[in-house]
Amino acid sequence: MATKAQLQQGNNLRDFTQKDELSDVTLIVQGEPLYVHKVYLAEWSPVWRAMFVANFREKSAQEIELPGKELEQMVELLHCIYPSQQAINEENVHFLLELAEEYQIEKIKQRCEVFLLSGNTDLESLLLAQRYCLDKLYTKCIEGATRLTLEDLEKCDEFQQLEPRTLNTIYKSKINTMRDYASYIKEKEVAMEKECNKVSRERDRIQSKLQTVKMLWETPSKRCYRHMGNTAMFDFSCRECNEKVYREIKKLCSELPNNRIN
Ligand SMILES: [Zn+2]
Repeated sequence: MATKAQLQQGNNLRDFTQKDELSDVTLIVQGEPLYVHKVYLAEWSPVWRAMFVANFREKSAQEIELPGKELEQMVELLHCIYPSQQAINEENVHFLLELAEEYQIEKIKQRCEVFLLSGNTDLESLLLAQRYCLDKLYTKCIEGATRLTLEDLEKCDEFQQLEPRTLNTIYKSKINTMRDYASYIKEKEVAMEKECNKVSRERDRIQSKLQTVKMLWETPSKRCYRHMGNTAMFDFSCRECNEKVYREIKKLCSELPNNRIN
């Protein structure tokens, strides 16, 4: 059993084992009295509210026994709901969730969910989300589980404890992921086809221009007026013929890319 000092966990936390003039109900946990305040607890938990109302009607002693509860865990829960607002952490999150579920303390459940959302969204968290209906955590963990392969999922110890609806959600999510991937591949294929066609057209254009350049010296109509009808070889000594060819080459070159491919 924890000592009073341990239950107090430092001087700034309320010591529930000490009598308080304003306390109007005593919770008995593992034989220890915890002095608390009805109105305050009733604000947090409809279960406690109902308990106190029933207790009032029976006009019995202002003591309520909570059998089966652990003193340390109960004190931790009280520290979380009293103004000290003890933080949720790795050590307390599991039993706090269980107690918050039993006493329907939604705000503590929400705080536990926020804490869990900041950590690993593994199957352990998924089991908690599943058990305590923590929707945001559930969605995030499903996303995480979807990223695992089915083989890796099955290797996890928690796998057997996943409910059929959870498994179903994971499978559906995986199928959707594959469907998304298939349409991504299809889109990529279409884009590549377009690019391929563009490249082919560019190749044809360049080849046709190169062909034109190659033919320049063999095409009589591209020569100067004196040699135009001349079917003989190109006369390299004619300045006008050379100038005409040069102008044609210059024109073609300006229409083609100038980059050298390394
Ligand atoms: Zn000429």
